Order: sequence, then structure tokens, then C-alpha cells
Amino acid sequence: MSRRPLIAGNWKMNCLKGDGVALAEGIAARLKAEPPQADLLVCPPATLIDAVARAVAGTPLAVGGQDCHAAKSGAHTGDVAAPMLKDLGASHVIVGHSERRSDHGETDATVRAKAAAAHATGLVAIICIGETEADRDGGRTLAVVGSQFEGSLPPDATPENTVIAYEPVWAIGTGRTPTNPEVAEVHGAIRALAAKRLGTDGASRLRILYGGSMKPSNAEDLLALEDVDGGLIGGASLNVEDFWAIARSSR
Ligand code: PEP
Repeated sequence: MSRRPLIAGNWKMNCLKGDGVALAEGIAARLKAEPPQADLLVCPPATLIDAVARAVAGTPLAVGGQDCHAAKSGAHTGDVAAPMLKDLGASHVIVGHSERRSDHGETDATVRAKAAAAHATGLVAIICIGETEADRDGGRTLAVVGSQFEGSLPPDATPENTVIAYEPVWAIGTGRTPTNPEVAEVHGAIRALAAKRLGTDGASRLRILYGGSMKPSNAEDLLALEDVDGGLIGGASLNVEDFWAIARSSR
């Protein structure tokens, strides 16, 4: 089964309007001139989704949110609902990023509810899971990632409305990555768990991204691994050349 890779940029809490629009326009221009063998997505801060979506309208560059609330609307000061993201032109939303789990105490149940809200709105949920360094050192990686997968996936998940991002917490923003065999082991384990939830055919269509210090120098090797179907990229997604080099590395 060949899965079209997804290269997704998580801009986190970076960029004001001018530089965010310029970054998105730079990527979109490259994408139009030389379409890669991958889908491309940028996830700017919520404040920039409207401007970025307008700037790249009519190009294949997709736009997503970095988080959404589990409710459609209501008394949740400062939060953003999935329908609001959709309204601005988003097609995807990241949920359960480790920074949300640690900064905001999000649990698997919270993440599952957010993913369900995304699905109910017609957004693709990119569900992040990954072990801490203590988990890895303690030999608990597969147990932790498996438990997060089970707990964070809503019952209505399908390969079309869901993408999994395996992001070892200790690799995010640190310049460190697991070895290729370690990445392959976790991705294979996630695919095996997905087969129990989605069936063998469903699991074979599910995209499982790797995230954590992916950059032009390591992207080709990581993206060549059998069960790695793209990347979720933080730091390197803030630079057109780096993000483009990663996109071009996909098989
Ligand atoms: C991320 O935040 O999802 C991420 C992978 O960050 P970085 O690429 O900077 O490690």
C-alpha cells in the first residue's frame, strides 16, 4: 500500500502577520513550481490562519490549526473551536502536541475529545503521541506510546480523518533524534495497534508521521523508513529552504 507522505509544519507561537504570510507564500511558490511527492501543510498560530489561508488560496498548500477546543462554542475564554478553524480555511488541526500535554495538562481523554470535535467539523486531526526521555530510558516507550494511541484515538477515527504523529518528547526542539531502527520499531508498533482499531486495510492507509528535530540533513533517511509517512516539523518549518528541502526528501 503506498501512502502519500504528508509534510506538516508546526509554527508554534511564532510569526507576526508579515513574516507568516511571506513564509507561507514562499512555500506555496515552490510547491507550484515543482510539486513534490507529498502533501504539504502549514499550521500557523490561530491568529494567522485567516491571512495565511488567503495568501495560499488556489495553491496545493494546506493550512491547519495547532489545537482546538472539544466544544463547538461556548464559555471558554481564549480557546478556539474547530468550526472557527474551518471557517478560516483550515483543513487540519494538530491535537495532543506534547507542549499542549505539558503546558496545559491535556490528558489522552482531552485529546480524544478534541480529535472527535475536529472530525465532527470535517477537519483532519493530527494526533500526537510520544514518550519522554525517562520513559525511553526505563524501557517503557512502546507501552507509553501504545497507551496514548489507544486513549487518544476517538471511536470515529478513520485513515481519512486521522493522522498520527509519533513525536518523542525528548527529540522535540533538541536536535536529538532516535536512531532509524528505533523510529522504525515505534512506527511498526503503532501500525500494528492501528490494525486492531481500523482493520488491516485501514491501518495500511493510515499516515503515521515522525516528528522531533527533523531537518534537511536527516529527513531523507527518516522518510525512507517503511512506516514513516511524512513528518511533523517544528523549527525547520520556519524557514522556506529547510522546509522545502525536507518536503523534497520524501519518497
Ligand atoms: C514539533 O514541535 O512538533 C517538532 C517536531 O519540533 P522540532 O521539529 O523543532 O523538533
